[in-house]
Amino acid sequence: MPSVDTLKQSLIDAGRILADEGQGDLIFGHVSARLPNDAEHFLMKPHQVGMEEITADNLITVNLEGEKVAGDAPRHIEVFIHSEILRVRPDITALVHTHAPNAVAFSALGRPLQGVGHEGALFHAGVPVFSETADLIIDQARGKAVARAMADSDVLIMRNHGIVTAGRNIEEATVLAVFLERACQAQLAVEACGGAKHLCSHDDAVAKTGRIMPQRGKVFEYLVRRNAAGDA
Ligand SMILES: [Zn+2]
Repeated sequence: MPSVDTLKQSLIDAGRILADEGQGDLIFGHVSARLPNDAEHFLMKPHQVGMEEITADNLITVNLEGEKVAGDAPRHIEVFIHSEILRVRPDITALVHTHAPNAVAFSALGRPLQGVGHEGALFHAGVPVFSETADLIIDQARGKAVARAMADSDVLIMRNHGIVTAGRNIEEATVLAVFLERACQAQLAVEACGGAKHLCSHDDAVAKTGRIMPQRGKVFEYLVRRNAAGDA
């Protein structure tokens, strides 16, 4: 169990990684993580700042009703994606919601995600799609609908909107968002050329998933280092 300070640093790192990967969408992406030893409250990026602008001081604390209980910065209107998924998924502690541009474009095709390359193969079990509305998730009812669509998956594509990824920690959820966006990018490239003629087999996809998914923590550490090197 990380300390609160460690958790805050992980959220700061996650925001910088997602911005670096092109998932910031100006000020409209967000990340969250349950507080250590407190399943009823979570830390969340505040509204009105970019993903790369998260600090230990501007993170806000929110309860499972979606109400801000600590912090001075404003709350995202889409807070209910986080509160309602965390309410029904005790197995996860962290969530990412971004308007990842390739995933948004891919979602408009109405096509299932395919094993074009490694990343696509990681999602061979299928990615649920939320299509009830393309509007923002502005209340508990819509948050519950998103949670229902996600069910027990760790990933969700929101048609004409974005993605949600979940993890046992923010590192896992963040790298899953990176993988999912890259999978969509690869398939978009193939679709633009008439669609895939060859795809990763199911057996290969299962094997690759077993090799790559456990490395998510190391991928996160690398992306933190890459980000720091970019600042130097
Ligand atoms: Zn959104």
